[in-house]
Amino acid sequence: MTVTVIDPATEEPIAELEQAGAEETDEAVARAKRAFPSWRAVAPVDRARLLRRLATLVEEHAEELALIESRNVGKPIAGARGEVAMVANVFHFYAGAVEKHYGETIPVAGGVDLTFREPLGVVGLIVPWNFPLNISSWKLGPALACGNTVVLKPAELTPLSALRLAELALETGIPEGVVNVLVGKGSVVGARLVEHPDVAKIGFTGSTEVGRDVMQGAAGTIKRVTLELGGKSANVVFEDADLERAAAGAPYAVFDNAGQDCCARSRILIQKSVYDRFLELLVAATKGVRVGDPQDERTEMGPLISAQHRDTVASFVDGDVLFRGDVPGGPGFWYPATLVEARNDDRIAREEVFGPVAALIPFADEDEAIRLANDTPYGLSGSIWTRDVGRALRVARGIDAGVLSVNSNSSVRHSTPFGGFKQSGFGRELGMHALEGYSEVKNVFVGTD
Ligand code: NAD
Repeated sequence: MTVTVIDPATEEPIAELEQAGAEETDEAVARAKRAFPSWRAVAPVDRARLLRRLATLVEEHAEELALIESRNVGKPIAGARGEVAMVANVFHFYAGAVEKHYGETIPVAGGVDLTFREPLGVVGLIVPWNFPLNISSWKLGPALACGNTVVLKPAELTPLSALRLAELALETGIPEGVVNVLVGKGSVVGARLVEHPDVAKIGFTGSTEVGRDVMQGAAGTIKRVTLELGGKSANVVFEDADLERAAAGAPYAVFDNAGQDCCARSRILIQKSVYDRFLELLVAATKGVRVGDPQDERTEMGPLISAQHRDTVASFVDGDVLFRGDVPGGPGFWYPATLVEARNDDRIAREEVFGPVAALIPFADEDEAIRLANDTPYGLSGSIWTRDVGRALRVARGIDAGVLSVNSNSSVRHSTPFGGFKQSGFGRELGMHALEGYSEVKNVFVGTD
């Protein structure tokens, strides 16, 4: 069976691919299993060199990769270039990490105690459609650095950049069978990877709903799982903040990637005393978001991924809106930047919309801000805008989320840990922390008596 890949900005087909089924999944796992013994035996210095080469190849093919991502996901080209630059940094980082991820000697009676970091074996990597190349690299980098072989499953809608990345991996000299990519359905290929007895771990990024299935499916073989799931993060604006800066940044904290971002600060909590002034500034900033052709250098927001997803996003917005932006006419799965006033118990403030829709919620004081920020099943990211450093730290410590920023919307850096609290998942990607998720600690005691 084949799948047609669509450009969401034009609704035109851009590729036709064979889809893998359960049988091809088993074959890919078998290939990865055969490749494992020799890959784990590659000297760390050589594994590092291969990852370094992959980083360099990504840099050399940056424009091509950015264009693939822009056309397949509808991402503005400028943002896609930034994402490709991050992918190169991720591989540079894990190339550097290979030789620094080592064990310890522990003082014990009667001998010498050593720890080793062992690879897990074959790991299954399941990736969503919103940041296909970036998220593939966040998993591939540490998995390969630790000496695992991988079967990577990109989302059905956006498989192209992962396929190109696998070709580049082969070009580096990473042996055949170490990196396998399967195009196919989550319910078939993904589910088979989750239950497969020869897959040691699943690194999953996607919705909380599917994450729950992955966790359940993994129980059968006591598989390790890392789950990077949904979010409903807060952008908390205090009265003492630099309101101009906070308002200028707020649209990109939620409309970036057309709101299809797990870290989207889609609840904007605003202190009552500055609510009207902030709203005025926010509307002006949102009006300025340039929506249109993703391959135009100036575009800041593209379309949504599919017609079906646009219907889902639209279903969240009923009744009055504070602001609704413009979208291009003609084909494409466009949805306007939208601001809505809400209460924290409204559906729009509780569920992940995954589109360019922000819910504005007023709060009275610091305690209420923390309470509202935490009044969600999720705990992924968030921002705090204030000039008071004590308050910034108090609130940051008070919010149950894995990735927070103060006076900034930044969420991910290749060298710092990324992941969620609560139903946003568990385990950490990026930085040295990700290596923990792709290795086992082995303890060896050598008696000397
Ligand atoms: P999704 O959960 O529908 O799919 C994610 C991946 O899982 C896809 O590759 C899909 O094919 C696969 N899949 C589907 N059913 C499966 C099954 N039964 N078993 C195994 N795999 C299966 O998510 P999506 O719609 O592609 O992406 C959007 C979601 O991803 C949002 O909820 C978003 O918040 C989340 N996300 C989280 C992060 C993070 O790091 N926390 C990052 C990006 C996206």
